Amino acid sequence: MASEFERHLIQPGAKVRLADHDPSETREWTKKTARARLDEVKARLHVLHEMLHANGKHGLLVVLQGMDACGKDGVIKHVADAFNHIACYAAPFKVPTKVELAHDFLWRVHAVTPGRGQVAFFNRSHYEDVLVVRVESLVPEAVWRQRYEAINDFERLLMRNGVMVVKFYLHISSEEQRERMEDRLRTPEDHYKFRVGDFATRAKWDEYMTAYEQALRRCSTAEAPWYLIPADKKWYRNLAIAQILLDRLERLGMSWPPLEEEAQGMTAIAPLG
Ligand code: ADP
Repeated sequence: MASEFERHLIQPGAKVRLADHDPSETREWTKKTARARLDEVKARLHVLHEMLHANGKHGLLVVLQGMDACGKDGVIKHVADAFNHIACYAAPFKVPTKVELAHDFLWRVHAVTPGRGQVAFFNRSHYEDVLVVRVESLVPEAVWRQRYEAINDFERLLMRNGVMVVKFYLHISSEEQRERMEDRLRTPEDHYKFRVGDFATRAKWDEYMTAYEQALRRCSTAEAPWYLIPADKKWYRNLAIAQILLDRLERLGMSWPPLEEEAQGMTAIAPLG
């Protein structure tokens, strides 16, 4: 059964106006109740991941997108640690290299998609190719406009291969971003996260919102949905994402694989020698 967090789903084809969504929404949750529930959800996620790995029939690709300091790393730290590292990894997407740019935009992405039995968290993704690339005019409009369709086809291909794709847009306010950037300035341990280049992106906030609105609208599909997560409160963001992933994994109706046939009925193993 879907949880209350399913309300963050963007219905396929629905028009999205980010300004209508409150980034600090938490409903009745408090930091304390959300953290307690998160622990329970993560314990269950851990079990379901073991089952996913044991069965080897499904994979899970989690896409994380949002403005700088929206919390992509935080989700990987606080939610992805529920999964067993034996079959879970995070893949970051940076400015493409020369070799990557010499290929189609999905080339580098496809190479790191999870196989069946695996879970991958994408820290940024192929969506950069219709976000930063669009806002900064890195390719002609005719090129990025075709990409929504290519993305939908690509994600459908993954789904047909058993890989569930779930995408989260971490919605923060520009004020919250400012505070987080200032915190980074004031905290020596966080200086490495501070990039002067992020100001240029921040200055184009409205253009990015338009690009996000279109990506969410064009690419939230039944096969690979987008969720719009209020992310000003980190504890609410973590709980919402963990619970949505749990709901999606529960829907697979997985069970533990049985003993192989020749071992059925065995309960003990004879000592050697
Ligand atoms: P992050 O902000 O993800 O922690 P960085 O500070 O290294 O890591 O930023 C990565 C940068 O790479 C971002 O500015 C992002 O917009 C950019 N980027 C990612 N993918 C692409 C792409 N396909 N084309 C151009 N720039 C990209």
